[in-house]
Amino acid sequence: MNLDTLLYKKDFNREELVFLLSLEGEEMKRLLDRALDVKIREIGNEVYLRGLIEYSNRCVKSCLYCGVRSGNEKVVRYTLSDEEVLDCAKKAIDMQYGSLAIQSGERRDMAFTEKITYLLKEIKSLSDGKLGITLSCGEQTEDVYREWFDAGAHRYLLRIESSDEKLYYKIHPNDKTHNFRTRLNALDSLSSIGYQVGTGVMIGLPFQSIENLADDLLFFKDINVAMVGMGPFIPHGDTPLYEYRGLIQDDRTRLNMTLKMIACLRLLMPRINMVAATADQTLSPNGREEAVMAGANVIMPNLTPNKYREEYMIYPNKACVGDKPEECQHCLDNRMKSINHTIGYNKWGDSKAFTN
Ligand code: SAM
Ligand code: SF4
Repeated sequence: MNLDTLLYKKDFNREELVFLLSLEGEEMKRLLDRALDVKIREIGNEVYLRGLIEYSNRCVKSCLYCGVRSGNEKVVRYTLSDEEVLDCAKKAIDMQYGSLAIQSGERRDMAFTEKITYLLKEIKSLSDGKLGITLSCGEQTEDVYREWFDAGAHRYLLRIESSDEKLYYKIHPNDKTHNFRTRLNALDSLSSIGYQVGTGVMIGLPFQSIENLADDLLFFKDINVAMVGMGPFIPHGDTPLYEYRGLIQDDRTRLNMTLKMIACLRLLMPRINMVAATADQTLSPNGREEAVMAGANVIMPNLTPNKYREEYMIYPNKACVGDKPEECQHCLDNRMKSINHTIGYNKWGDSKAFTN
């Protein structure tokens, strides 16, 4: 396969993606550089922010990779108070973040779903409708998704985790609560309601092949997502998947694969929003900048009150856990300037693939 020709293509088959994902050294660098060029040409050098609120670590699920899974009894469970959530929203306004992302362990009881509806309305009202809101609160019924949409959420992130059903069941229990088809249907419901839908996968999982990753990219294209959040898998000592840590590659190799996935997807879907995940920075101090330089354009600075952050350890050694929100803003601004990017303050930063 000829790399020169491939880098200028707009569509790719599985074999070509496997080839690109296998690149190393100078050739890998050429792929990342090409993706950066395509990003700048299609959507510019602006990075959008979503102030992240880790609302609750209570979860009804037991995903085999996640540190806050219901089966992990070492976790001290918390849910932010209404006041704490609204304080985060005020901080986002003060720091001109433009958008919030509310992430949470999954709960489907009415006390939870109605609380989210209430908080969405309150945030919309206190910000005069100026804060954009992304939700990431797992699988819900279509009615609940609609209620949240009507209350003001307009983007929803639900990672498929792996588009390969067999691999999905190697990293989730195979039961009613963790059903691959239900997850696919949830993505469908979100689209039909009118959300900007985001999905994504973890990269470098045990049992995951390069072909699986190429198929993930084709899956994103096939369902025509507006945004993607992908990040490296980081093994957590108190989860069942930890037993298989011997099967995964080292941190740098998993981060490089993440960068190649971002770059390939930028070539395949030039105008979507793509997150530079905190997990990238956990594996390498400049991991998020590297992701932005490979084609990502969204960053989610953490607004969760510091006293709760240790309890939202979905994976160990999460970056920025001790940082104060104000420090984060300053640090991010400098980090983006150092790589010739600017921050889109006070903007919702919707996916140009969607708004078009
Ligand atoms: N509960 C919601 C859900 O699962 O969609 C949202 C919160 S969940 C903690 C957000 C994401 O964290 C998941 O989609 C998963 O990809 C990621 N995650 C969980 N454990 C991880 C790990 N050990 N390494 C990397 N990412 C992980
Ligand atoms: Fe719960 Fe999400 Fe973690 Fe799964 S990944 S255990 S749904 S918080």
